[in-house]
Amino acid sequence: MGRYIGPVCRLCRREKMKLFLKGAKCLMSKCPIEKERRPPGEHGMRRRKESEYGRQLREKQKLRRSFGIGERQFSNYFAQAARAKGRTGENLVSMLERRLDSVTYRLGFVTAPRTSRQFIRHGHILVNGRRTDYPGYQVKPGDVIMVRERGTSRQRAAEALEASRAQEVPQWLKLDKNQFRGEVLRLPGADEGRVPADVSLVVGFYSK
Ligand code: SF4
Repeated sequence: MGRYIGPVCRLCRREKMKLFLKGAKCLMSKCPIEKERRPPGEHGMRRRKESEYGRQLREKQKLRRSFGIGERQFSNYFAQAARAKGRTGENLVSMLERRLDSVTYRLGFVTAPRTSRQFIRHGHILVNGRRTDYPGYQVKPGDVIMVRERGTSRQRAAEALEASRAQEVPQWLKLDKNQFRGEVLRLPGADEGRVPADVSLVVGFYSK
């Protein structure tokens, strides 16, 4: 299945929670979740008892949509997480958090995860001094992520940093706002994912 290109607020309404896909608008009262709009679709208000499979599916979708990843790529991530040492769910969260587009967003260089992908593809981000235009690049401890030193890149990042003042940078990252520089101090912990999802349900979804 290709990447979803429809209205993103619909995704939050479907998951009945804020997925913070639209940057500054997500913090305003204009957000449909703030206005408590019903889930999308003709039967959005109908209460249904959710099956175990339904709960697993919703949790998987919540995580996948928050990171803007397609079905196939997400299941590839899961397969890699299952092969790696340690707990599959924790490995999966770590891999998602370590995507360059997620890190760029969490450092505040962009205001929304979607913008992050575009910002990287357009060459505004350097990793360890080299232009890196692959949003799925997996950062590792010691990596230095910088906004390219040119007018438009820095100007856009400065505006985003200003808009995301309230957003906390996770402890596994370090931000130097003045230098437009972020550093990966360590791998993210199991409880440091930005999306409050129950990963055991996601593991259950793929374990059938
Ligand atoms: Fe739309 Fe953002 Fe609210 Fe989600 S959190 S419904 S993307 S405004």
